[in-house]
Amino acid sequence: PVLKRLDQLLSNLGYCSRKEARYLLKDKRVTVAGEYAKSPAQKVDAATVLVDGEPLDFPEGILVMLNKPLGYVCSHDSGEGMRIYDLLPERWEFRNPKIVSVGRLDKDTSGLILVTDDTKLVHQLTSPKHHVDKLYQVTVNSPLQPDIIEAFAKGVVLGDGAEQCLPAKVEIISENMANVTLNEGKYHQVRRMFAACGYHVEALHRSQFGPYSLHDLGQDLPQGDWQVVDLPS
Ligand code: URA
Repeated sequence: PVLKRLDQLLSNLGYCSRKEARYLLKDKRVTVAGEYAKSPAQKVDAATVLVDGEPLDFPEGILVMLNKPLGYVCSHDSGEGMRIYDLLPERWEFRNPKIVSVGRLDKDTSGLILVTDDTKLVHQLTSPKHHVDKLYQVTVNSPLQPDIIEAFAKGVVLGDGAEQCLPAKVEIISENMANVTLNEGKYHQVRRMFAACGYHVEALHRSQFGPYSLHDLGQDLPQGDWQVVDLPS
């Protein structure tokens, strides 16, 4: 196992600052392999460390599936309202490397958002070059006409004609609802694609992002809940 300085390990996982680590030790809140930790500088295997009797949080290289409720923003800035990060353990806010979302969902979109501390993974999953599929359930304001299937397959031209979308798949599932698969992620893309075809999106939910699905966990992940999953191999 990789050995790390105890104070660095604890501060990277958000338990305390490096300086504060010695107070945790003094208060006998930290054990290493069953013994009270003696020095903030001691080199430890994270798997042997307990804080208040509990094993440490998930180490560096974490990926989380979160089922975002409506009304939450994918931003670290609390000025914009309730944040997806408020749904995760508070300590994670102080992790280093920092935890970020893989792309964003609008405040009024629900469903799957991935959160990770792995910037390479963020790039792999969001880079336009990689064409990662995302699946959305869309509810619109008026009955869907079958010609939308071809319009999406050809590539919708957005608003002012300046932006051409890649081909996308629509499956009409009821009068006002469709499944849409996109493999790019322009700003407000689903809403703007439907607007370009004359519809207003009334509800938008994402159920899949690349290999990750809200339905693959044995039972669906409830709104507002999260689960740690394996990084892609
Ligand atoms: N497209 C949108 O318009 N909004 C989202 O949140 C995601 C995709």
